[in-house]
Amino acid sequence: MSLWIESSCINCDMCAPECPNQAIAYDGKQYQIDDSLCTECAGFYDRPACVEVCPLDCIEALPSV
Ligand code: SF4
Ligand code: SF4
Repeated sequence: MSLWIESSCINCDMCAPECPNQAIAYDGKQYQIDDSLCTECAGFYDRPACVEVCPLDCIEALPSV
């Protein structure tokens, strides 16, 4: 499972420096999470670091189908 960033993101750049896998990048319009790199911080933190720092709470877990 990965995480995704909602369109309410204000591109504040709080999350990207916190990611241990460099999975968050600005794509020219908005910050995005590369789901091939995101491990939900497994082995680094107990909870996703990006979610912890986002001031808007706009990083969501993808619903598992
Ligand atoms: S959950 Fe962790 S690994 Fe995934 S994007 Fe957020 S900070 Fe990076
Ligand atoms: S911390 Fe939240 S609002 Fe800021 S760039 Fe990341 S996702 Fe967007």
